[in-house]
Amino acid sequence: MYCIKRKKQWSEKVFTYWIEAPWVARAAKPGQFLATINSPKGERIPMTIVDIDGDTIEILFQVIGKSTLELSRMNEGDSLYAVVGPLGNPSELQKFDGPVIFVAGGIGVGPVYPIAKKAKEMGNKVISIMGARSKSLLVMTEQMKEVSDELLISTDDGSYGRKGFVTDLLKEVFEREEKPSHIWAIGPAIMMKFVSLTAKPFGVPLTVSLNPIMIDATGMCGVCRVYVNGKNRLACVDGPEFDGYAVDYDSFMERLTQYREKEAIALKRYIEAEG
Ligand code: NAD
Repeated sequence: MYCIKRKKQWSEKVFTYWIEAPWVARAAKPGQFLATINSPKGERIPMTIVDIDGDTIEILFQVIGKSTLELSRMNEGDSLYAVVGPLGNPSELQKFDGPVIFVAGGIGVGPVYPIAKKAKEMGNKVISIMGARSKSLLVMTEQMKEVSDELLISTDDGSYGRKGFVTDLLKEVFEREEKPSHIWAIGPAIMMKFVSLTAKPFGVPLTVSLNPIMIDATGMCGVCRVYVNGKNRLACVDGPEFDGYAVDYDSFMERLTQYREKEAIALKRYIEAEG
């Protein structure tokens, strides 16, 4: 169970794994996520569900700390201790009158893909905007092309597509005659904040998906609380999707960094012990 059937490395730190997890595969819907546990004493790592093929789930992750480094060192044929999910609520998708815009920043493309895919299956016109720091960090462009009527790409350094941020491309889409009906934006918190500032004057509803630090990811610990519409909400059970205009991005960003020192110590200790 939870066997890594296939592994793909996109860049130094970004990987796609296909993992056998029949129960999660049968129940998961676009917008939901899962948690992986490497070993019996391991922590739960919240993960994007990119796609499902029979009993196999596809996940995309970036090496950030000890647990993701440990996961990246596992190989095809190895098994994870556990896969927990699906977690969170599915996306509220429908057939919209106008185009639906999907904005994906960096590896935020992982959770964007299944939502865009479903939106396209429902008959929506899908305009996708992807951004990465440079060409070598762009992932899943072919998959996104398949589910989009139009795919626009930017890189911060101009090494591929338009030079600039996803928000520059978003502004251009707003200048068109056809008014979009809805926007989904997933990526770094700072990107979601600026997507909301860019989109607000145009009055188009915006959904963002938040990935705060989580421990149990089932609503018990409260660590993933985010401030939305003046209230504390738990990203794991109330989200992960929220109204993109109601999120307090500054407190969200502050909470994301609160364990950075401890995470660095755990990573240093792991590298000292394992090499
Ligand atoms: P990154 O820092 O390279 O940024 C990706 C893109 O976001 C940039 O190329 C740019 O187009 C846009 N961006 C960045 N700063 C911006 C700004 N100030 N204004 C407008 N656009 C801006 O991304 P990365 O290193 O691949 O990291 C991905 C991030 O996505 C991580 O922070 C991760 O936590 C987050 N993520 C979130 C989810 C989720 O479910 N919310 C899932 C996966 C990843």
